[in-house]
Amino acid sequence: MSIEINNHVTVLEIDGNALLHNLNYFKQKLHPKTKILAVVKAFGYGSDGVQIGKFLENKVDYFAVAYANEGIALREADIKTPILVLHPQTPNLQSIIDYKLEPNLYNFKILTAFIKLANEISLKKYPVHIKFNTGLNRLGFCDKDIPEIISILKETTPLKVQSLFSHLAASEDLEEQGFTSNQINNFTNIAAQFKKHLGHEPILHLLNTSGVVNYTKAQFDMVRVGIGLYGFGNDDKETAQLKNTHNLTSIISQIHLIEVGETVGYNRAFTAKKITKTATIPVGHADGLSRKLGNKKGYLRINNQKAAIIGNVCMDMIMVDITEIDCKEGDEVIIFNTQEMIQNISNTSETIPYETLTAISQRVKKILKE
Ligand SMILES: *Cc1c(COP(=O)(O)O)cnc(C)c1O
Repeated sequence: MSIEINNHVTVLEIDGNALLHNLNYFKQKLHPKTKILAVVKAFGYGSDGVQIGKFLENKVDYFAVAYANEGIALREADIKTPILVLHPQTPNLQSIIDYKLEPNLYNFKILTAFIKLANEISLKKYPVHIKFNTGLNRLGFCDKDIPEIISILKETTPLKVQSLFSHLAASEDLEEQGFTSNQINNFTNIAAQFKKHLGHEPILHLLNTSGVVNYTKAQFDMVRVGIGLYGFGNDDKETAQLKNTHNLTSIISQIHLIEVGETVGYNRAFTAKKITKTATIPVGHADGLSRKLGNKKGYLRINNQKAAIIGNVCMDMIMVDITEIDCKEGDEVIIFNTQEMIQNISNTSETIPYETLTAISQRVKKILKE
């Protein structure tokens, strides 16, 4: 038995109401019959996939995770919703079956490996998902593979093709509309060709968050929403319609008064030019804050005022300038609680909110508030 105790005072609060708001925002853009798959991979984009899964299990049609172990965590929490494993690997196929997870079969190697296993244990109509590559060149069969896939599937009874899907390469980039339209057309043709040979209607799905925003017409039977659930629409106008779900806070561990000429932190990267009051906060690069935020590039908020990060970001801590801020040890610190703060941190870290959110590490305590 393992007892999990996480009393880290650096806490990521997941705002359940904001999640629901965002889910409903996407729902109202879609046809009422269009199914919603909530992408909860990478610990629910750096939060907690299990808590989010529990919270959304009766409100969405599907979950997707990247790897089998993420799906197993959802099943161990007794979540019954269908779970698509986007990137199963051959050594995980048995546990995928044991936990009733549904694999994406994206090439002949994994397709035949799964069929072999399914036959050995006499599975019947086990739901699987077939992915096609329509331009991202990441995972997926190509259109000319269809006859061979069909003939392999015809010889076997254990599988049921639950869905056919593909993934857009540049759905957020309106300058790539031509390319994206091509992907949509390719997928439409592939699905039509494939369906002719199946005795049933598989679920068709193509769009991620920015796909839903920019190519709503290509919603097919289901959409796969990830970053949008967590408050980012890949475009300022859309993001403004969404609510922030990830609120990262901590508390001040210690306050120092630094004399002129003294330095702060590793490599003595900050030198006080005037008497400076600093606060040490228990969050560092091992919690997901980029070292690019050091040396006054990044800031957080204490008592509603900006406190710049001084010196280098340490593994477990940062020091911030609170010379002008009225605060004491034990006071709350907001690392981010708005999309704007997350976007600013992302810009300064030379990345995008996807990475800022998923970088929040496992040792940060996660609490979903309804
Ligand atoms: C991660 C992922 C998504 C979700 O994308 P967002 O841009 O976060 O909505 C959808 N589909 C696939 C295949 C993915 O890997």
